[in-house]
Amino acid sequence: MRIAVLSDVHANLEALEATLSALDERGGADAVYCLGDVVGYGADAAACVKRVRERCDGVVMGNHDAAVAREEGLEVLPSDGQAAARHNREQLSGEQLDWLADLPLTLEARGLRLVHASPDRPAAWTRLDGFRAAREQFDAFDEAVCFVGHTHRPAVMADSLGVLSVRSGNRYLINPGSVGQPRDENPRASFGLFDTDAFTYENVRVPYDTELAAEKVRAAGLPDRLARRLMRGK
Ligand code: ZN
Repeated sequence: MRIAVLSDVHANLEALEATLSALDERGGADAVYCLGDVVGYGADAAACVKRVRERCDGVVMGNHDAAVAREEGLEVLPSDGQAAARHNREQLSGEQLDWLADLPLTLEARGLRLVHASPDRPAAWTRLDGFRAAREQFDAFDEAVCFVGHTHRPAVMADSLGVLSVRSGNRYLINPGSVGQPRDENPRASFGLFDTDAFTYENVRVPYDTELAAEKVRAAGLPDRLARRLMRGK
């Protein structure tokens, strides 16, 4: 079974549409999951919520979803993130806000674990950006693979050293990177394709119209830094 995993769309409709088109061009997937942060930072929150609901079989909650829909953790976001959260909240319908507010923190699907930040304490929004932080997480899930987002950096982290690729017999934390705001100095949208039968993983990068997405951020009156980072990919 082919599973597509998207994360951190961040209200970037151009990146989301390009990603979904790239997925379709590759023959689609048997199931599509989203690791949260559908909203925040970008200009098109309502359209992205609509598209994610149309295309995804399961969605977990991200910290920006909680900030926008529940006004939880708003104060710990960077100031540009707070401005975008307030903008997005105005843009979403009551029904869309309710949907976001009710998203689960984790999902178990097709033998995989899905969570926005970390499986041990999903609501703590821990950033798995180092070996030590990642290693401690393997006790927090039973599946062979746990998909995580949140850092906006694609990564494959195995449960032991000396594992050079995704293969059956090891366990993994896999970050598919960010669709709508990559931070690995590669501005192309990022998503993951996992084959549960072959036990193989591919990280896919997708060029999209970053200029248009950045222009929409500016036109929405959001901080210029949010537009610039789309162009730089960091
Ligand atoms: Zn995010």
